[in-house]
Amino acid sequence: MQPFAVEHIMPQSKGGETTLGNLAWSCQGCNNYKYNKTEALDTISGKRVPLYNPRKQRWRFHYAWNYDCSLMIGLTATGRATIEALRINRQELIDLRKILYSLDQHPPKKFSK
Ligand SMILES: [Zn+2]
Repeated sequence: MQPFAVEHIMPQSKGGETTLGNLAWSCQGCNNYKYNKTEALDTISGKRVPLYNPRKQRWRFHYAWNYDCSLMIGLTATGRATIEALRINRQELIDLRKILYSLDQHPPKKFSK
């Protein structure tokens, strides 16, 4: 398991403040991939779009799980671009989700169907 980090949604380097509305609890792996990004390319539309903001947007509008909840599926340009930018479906997370799913510990209740 990776340690968690307090993530600035709008990076401090781009003027983001250390206030509750701009902070998210993130695994260090996703936080490293996000770095100071605020937008990314959606490969389907070919457009650069804002990354998902967990403080302002609803998870269920932008994401779903596949049949065994091992893969996050982007339902919107923002959802898809965020999955790619943060590499949310990297192999170690797929493996972790499969183990947790088998133990009935995944997905988190607020993100289930
Ligand atoms: Zn993560």
